[in-house]
Amino acid sequence: MKIFVVNAGSSSLKYQLIDMDNEEVLAKGLCERIGVTGCISHKAADGRKYEAETPMPTHSEAFEAVVFAMTKSEAKVIDSFDEISAIGHRIVQGGAIFKGSCLVNDKVLSDISDLGAMAPLHNPAHVLAIKACIKTFGEKIPQVVVFDTSFHQTMPPKAYMYALPYEYYEKYQVRKYGAHGTSHHFVSDRVAVLENKDKKDIKIITCHLGNGCSITAIKDGVCVDTSMGFTPLDGFMMGTRSGTIDPSALTYIAEKDNLSAADINTICNKKSGMLGISGVSNDNRDIEKAGKEGNERALLATSMQRYQILKFVGQYIAAMNGVDAIAFTGGIGENDPGLRQYVCENLGFLNVKIDGELNKLRGQEVKISTADSGVDVFVIPTNEELAIARDTLDIVSKL
Ligand code: AMP
Repeated sequence: MKIFVVNAGSSSLKYQLIDMDNEEVLAKGLCERIGVTGCISHKAADGRKYEAETPMPTHSEAFEAVVFAMTKSEAKVIDSFDEISAIGHRIVQGGAIFKGSCLVNDKVLSDISDLGAMAPLHNPAHVLAIKACIKTFGEKIPQVVVFDTSFHQTMPPKAYMYALPYEYYEKYQVRKYGAHGTSHHFVSDRVAVLENKDKKDIKIITCHLGNGCSITAIKDGVCVDTSMGFTPLDGFMMGTRSGTIDPSALTYIAEKDNLSAADINTICNKKSGMLGISGVSNDNRDIEKAGKEGNERALLATSMQRYQILKFVGQYIAAMNGVDAIAFTGGIGENDPGLRQYVCENLGFLNVKIDGELNKLRGQEVKISTADSGVDVFVIPTNEELAIARDTLDIVSKL
């Protein structure tokens, strides 16, 4: 059974075609500049490539270009899209409505659209893309939506409520929703497999560290707390996002510089984090290089990032009254041995010990803790597309 996985933004569309008989990726690609000009870059598993500039005024033309790439181009992988059994879409915000993945129907589409106020850059684009996808692939191929937030829906109110006047929760559903749920779900499932234990029997902390970062606590097999909040700005510093800030610091800056709420939102989302502190880049590789050359602000950014991550891990150890396994994933989590070493060394009070050589490995699934470590520590490359495809398969196989 072949499943087509879609991750659509307002001007881009990432996709993979996965053969679920062996969970192998048959092809993957990206359409960019939708609504402006349009281009597609598509790659088959055997390395054949197809790249083209083609007008994409809407997502419909982008999907048509993808169908051409998959079925007719020099990098074709199927003869017809009839070979696709189901389509799975990544959705950023499912609010409190979506506690799991589900089939697309009119009500689901209108609920995703209504949640757009909480994810204005994402949910409206997802709805446009799903409608365009139905137009291109027809009504016969089932479409499933998989939410970044649904894994976090098991958090108890004490974890997801903000200590604001209760009316804002009632009127506007202001609370913590979390993000990266598909990744935390995938990685925690892998931890249970690698530990050879039922997930319900282990306390896990998953650290998804990429351009966006979040840390999740998983106990009794479910998420009990996570660092991202009402939006993916909350938590600790990221590539360009600030993480948690005293709101009074922001109102103070707004008054001083006569800034609007939208200006503050842009500063916190786009100009802060590693970029804001280092002044060098949002990319950890650039910051590491600048730090080695003696750039003080780059060194400060790195030390802040590591310290903030450590504190979140510490919080969740306390919240769960212990931890059995910690997993690192995402571009930084998978590739930054120094960060992993820092976090683990500072958990020495739990007798956490890692193997220096294993910790040097990059981008591969590996247990980096020693046999006598008090906590098992893993590096687990995330695979959100496969997780979406698995959920999609699960849902359509029950039809
Ligand atoms: P992601 O959003 O998961 O793609 O992660 C992006 C972040 O991962 C950036 O800050 C990159 O610097 C970092 N990253 C990716 N590859 C490497 C690498 N080989 N070494 C160090 N950091 C990396």
